[in-house]
Amino acid sequence: MRKVPGLELAGRLSGLCLLVAALAPGGVAQSAPALAADPKIAAALNDVSARQIQANIEKLVSFATRSTLSAQDPAAIRSGRGIGAAREWIQSEFERYSRDCGGCLEVKTDSYTQEPGERVKESTVITNVYAVLKGTDGENARRIVLVTGHYDSRNSDNYNITDDAPGANDDASGTAVSLECARVLSKLKFPATMVFLTVAGEEQGLYGSRHFARMAKEQGWDLEAVLNNDIVGADKSPEQDHSVIRVFSEGVPAVATDEDLRRIRLLGGESDSTSRQLARYMVDVGETYDLGVQPMMIFRQDRYLRGGDHSSFNQQGFAAVRITEFREDFHHQHQNVRMESGIQYGDLPRFVDFDYASHVARLNAATLAGLAAAPAPPANPRLLTRNLENDSTLTWDASPGGLATAYEVLWRATTSPEWEHAQKLGNVTRATMKMSKDNVIFAVRACDQAGHCSLPVVPAPER
Ligand SMILES: [Zn+2]
Repeated sequence: MRKVPGLELAGRLSGLCLLVAALAPGGVAQSAPALAADPKIAAALNDVSARQIQANIEKLVSFATRSTLSAQDPAAIRSGRGIGAAREWIQSEFERYSRDCGGCLEVKTDSYTQEPGERVKESTVITNVYAVLKGTDGENARRIVLVTGHYDSRNSDNYNITDDAPGANDDASGTAVSLECARVLSKLKFPATMVFLTVAGEEQGLYGSRHFARMAKEQGWDLEAVLNNDIVGADKSPEQDHSVIRVFSEGVPAVATDEDLRRIRLLGGESDSTSRQLARYMVDVGETYDLGVQPMMIFRQDRYLRGGDHSSFNQQGFAAVRITEFREDFHHQHQNVRMESGIQYGDLPRFVDFDYASHVARLNAATLAGLAAAPAPPANPRLLTRNLENDSTLTWDASPGGLATAYEVLWRATTSPEWEHAQKLGNVTRATMKMSKDNVIFAVRACDQAGHCSLPVVPAPER
């Protein structure tokens, strides 16, 4: 934690209002933002298996090609070749996990016919396969956290549906993460709902995820977090860094209105989208649990020249991040399997580090579990700006769903990438901080007694 000069604080509760008084350096009650490790979640993370992930990736590769344009008729499914066979196997895996937890998962498909368009010449059925672990708490079960990977693959030519397109890293690895999260977390119960998703049509232009995200929007899903895993196998090039995993997040939201943009230009806020709060939360998760890999935040929506399924969710206004290995090897992506000038091309399982993919699965599982166990974020947070004053007063409505027993005001220097300080409060809906809102960025989050905390939300100015 880096300290902001002059921000030593202590709290004093008075009814529903908390006044935070300035203290001399050495004051109490202020700390670095932290999450408490949950022993049940820690135990579940130990259940994440590199061997299971390897088996899942090798099984997906065994379908030879998973091009969205490849065959999916009953004969092709029986032959075990093509995207239809892959889809059926994913569904059967989710169903197997559900049998192991007494039918706790609802296994579903989201299917539609894509008419000819970009990189799709003929009408093509695109099917997303997913499993729902329903939350156990009435009101909180409406809240949803989601993990996804795309199970389709491609080779050098988008329209080549006959040659192999193993797609071991891109993106059997992300699909395996979704499956493994479902297998491990379905053994636990959470107040909020989890969705384990695998989508198709990514390589033609994010078709599957776009359809799914629109459905979520149209159906009014309270979708708090989307984790998109795409290329998470740490391709074994010498320059690979196996200790970190990149987490890309948009800064200015795709759905920012003109009014939002005006406020961002005037007051800052370029780095405070809900997606970025999710990325910061993942960094906290990395400090709370033994994952084997540390999230490395990248403050951009995606890599140069590339896109991914998280942006489909961003475009519907949901918090969504992209999770990708540190360094990609482009010889092993979107390439026909071949030797050329002594170089092996093709996205083959031998280049995937299954231990690393299991560490990424742990990060995903810990993030999903932490958020699904936590209270809903505080509603309607406001920063009062009626008067010129050097104190800062925040108000909010109680976290819906009744799980919150406490709130925390977080803050950081305007130049800092991460939340630096936390002021723990009781069950209150208002706090006055003895520091100027001009000098820091504030957020508030809801916590329960066990130390599960919601995503922080940045208050809107209120005059
Ligand atoms: Zn991909």
